[in-house]
Amino acid sequence: MAFNLDMYPVVYTAQYNPKTKTWEERWIENDKLPYSELMKKTEEERSEIYRKRNDLGLPSVSYTSQYGFGCFEGMKAFSTKDGGVSIFRPDRNAKRFADSMRGLKCPPFPEEMFVRASVEFVRRNAELGYVPPYNPEWEKDNYASASSVYIRPFMNSEGAVGVGISVAPLVVICATSVSSYFKGGNTKAVTTKRIRATPYGTGCIKCASNYVISALAKKEAEEAGYMEVVYLDSEDHKYVQEGSSCNIFFVLDDGTLVTPELGDTILPGITRSSVIDLARDCGYKVEERKISIDEVMSKAVECFVTGTAAGITPIESVTHEGVERVFNNRVPGKVGVEIQKLLKGGQYGSIPFTRDWNKKVI
Ligand code: PMP
Repeated sequence: MAFNLDMYPVVYTAQYNPKTKTWEERWIENDKLPYSELMKKTEEERSEIYRKRNDLGLPSVSYTSQYGFGCFEGMKAFSTKDGGVSIFRPDRNAKRFADSMRGLKCPPFPEEMFVRASVEFVRRNAELGYVPPYNPEWEKDNYASASSVYIRPFMNSEGAVGVGISVAPLVVICATSVSSYFKGGNTKAVTTKRIRATPYGTGCIKCASNYVISALAKKEAEEAGYMEVVYLDSEDHKYVQEGSSCNIFFVLDDGTLVTPELGDTILPGITRSSVIDLARDCGYKVEERKISIDEVMSKAVECFVTGTAAGITPIESVTHEGVERVFNNRVPGKVGVEIQKLLKGGQYGSIPFTRDWNKKVI
């Protein structure tokens, strides 16, 4: 069977018109097959439908396809305990997306347009049954096996060749379901000599080209028997930066929760920022500062990585230059578990957030 991304049927696009300086919006609805009807099809038929849905008519030769000149976002929609559907903090993704586009010297996609389109996008797909309904069974394992909708907004350049800057970028919002971000098995991490981001580079924006190094380093870590990779800074190769596509936190032996401070080499994760707020609500002392790998190897007693796809994933150990630092006897630590409960509970609406983090769709 051919492997296809299980794309949702409704897709949003907007293209910047440099003459009028406006964004021209369009909805693509290749088919309006309700989810219940899709599930009655054979696997081969479904595969063909997914293939057609994934054909968005984007230019084959573009700054994006040739040079990785593009940016993207990842955010999630959740069905909530009250029977509704919400998107988690889309205003933050909207801001980061606009920042990424500015970082690429492109016209930024307006933040309010991003949020409005995302809400309408989820609503249209939900009407066709593509948002899995809330299931109280999910509460039993604290939403570890719960479903959600993975929304993937991205920017693609117009058809072009020659190294250059996109002047008529196209923004697409599509969605797919996702399985667990990390494969099962161990949750060991290992430092890499590869460099993800350099000062004055593009590490703090979510541009496509950053992810080639991530894919390579992650593959090497997996081949060596680890789940995840940890980057160190490019200048001293001493300070912890982040994971392959997630931010990283450590609990030190004095109970302080530490995460590397933001700068031009670290992506400002929305989960990262939410975890900092929730941890402070729980009374933990949180520090955003430089943390050296030596400090991790001598003082860290718990570690977890954070991201929209990764959620809050406990890390059992970090290996650096052949030495393994094991955290909490290889079982998920108390701080990560406590915050995960609040984050998931809030996203699925069983422990409502004390902040306005869920943007209601339905
Ligand atoms: N760092 C990188 C490099 C990432 O790709 C991601 C995923 N977007 C993150 C951190 C986590 O960000 P967020 O919590 O917003 O998903």
